[in-house]
Amino acid sequence: MLVIMKNDATEEQVKAVIREIENLGYRGIPMPGAQRTAVCIIGNQEPVDDSHLLALGGVKETIRVTKPYKLVSRETHPQPTIISIGNVMIGGGKPVIMAGPCAIESEKQALTIASLVKRHGAQVFRGGAFKPRTSPYSFQGLGEDGLKILKKVREETGLLIITEAIDHTNIELIEQYADIIQLGARNMQNYSLLRQAGHVTRPILLKRGFAATVEELLMSAEYIMSEGNAQIILCERGIRTFSDNTRNTLDLSAILSVKEVSHLPVVVDPSHAAGRREYVIPLAKGAIAVGADGILVEVHNEPMHALSDGMQSLYPEQFATLVKEIKTLTK
Ligand code: PEP
Ligand code: MN
Repeated sequence: MLVIMKNDATEEQVKAVIREIENLGYRGIPMPGAQRTAVCIIGNQEPVDDSHLLALGGVKETIRVTKPYKLVSRETHPQPTIISIGNVMIGGGKPVIMAGPCAIESEKQALTIASLVKRHGAQVFRGGAFKPRTSPYSFQGLGEDGLKILKKVREETGLLIITEAIDHTNIELIEQYADIIQLGARNMQNYSLLRQAGHVTRPILLKRGFAATVEELLMSAEYIMSEGNAQIILCERGIRTFSDNTRNTLDLSAILSVKEVSHLPVVVDPSHAAGRREYVIPLAKGAIAVGADGILVEVHNEPMHALSDGMQSLYPEQFATLVKEIKTLTK
């Protein structure tokens, strides 16, 4: 349930509403908006008796939230969420471009790719230091050494850094180095990790699991937000279907579905969806045309020698073309 405050409600009145919700045995989360403040009630299994709440000063009305997710729902927060980090805005209308290799392999590799993607228009540099690999024998990432390289990339290029936390043992470490923490498809339903992500001070990019519905993705985002972190970017990265022509099937309609029911920004990762670089540019353009708030794309200066995901990594010049084409789409 949402308690909608009057336009002129005071902070004290909002606090009194939260106290009353706590007296009822639930939690009240204030959701300040452009027009009005709402207080979202979470933790109730059954409908809440709103008679005490309606009697409080500054309360305009109560509204039932019909979705199982509350805080990430548009019913609770009608305006789109814009995430600002430095001078980069995600969800603000201009698509954000996040690019870089699948994995950080060496300082030279990372700095080379970072300066190329920056020159061609990226605002955020991606690269895994801890890699969740299907095979235990594949390259697992450089670990903290990779994070130190990412720090250097930020210092030398000014790009923001996104990198993945793969479990509860490293999320706090990642927090010290990253501007955005990525939670991968394999971890979308790792609930203890999601809860921890709710306590970090960085925005979270949450990838859709390959067998997850849009509702499940939103419920996972709700885990993060219910712990206090409202800075969440959702990412469609392809799901597993019977189609075997691509690594995964990019679900472009998920962008529309998320935007219809949630205020969170959505970006698209065409690289892990396609699995092959030839498909990445058209899929990325499709995503932007459908309304994605940005793209997360793999780029490598020597994809043939990449330690992971070389086949789907764009050559830097292809990345330059992609950025140009996105600009013409969003003029
Ligand atoms: C990645 O971004 O390199 C990655 C491992 O992605 P996903 O979790 O989508 O497979
Ligand atoms: Mn990858």
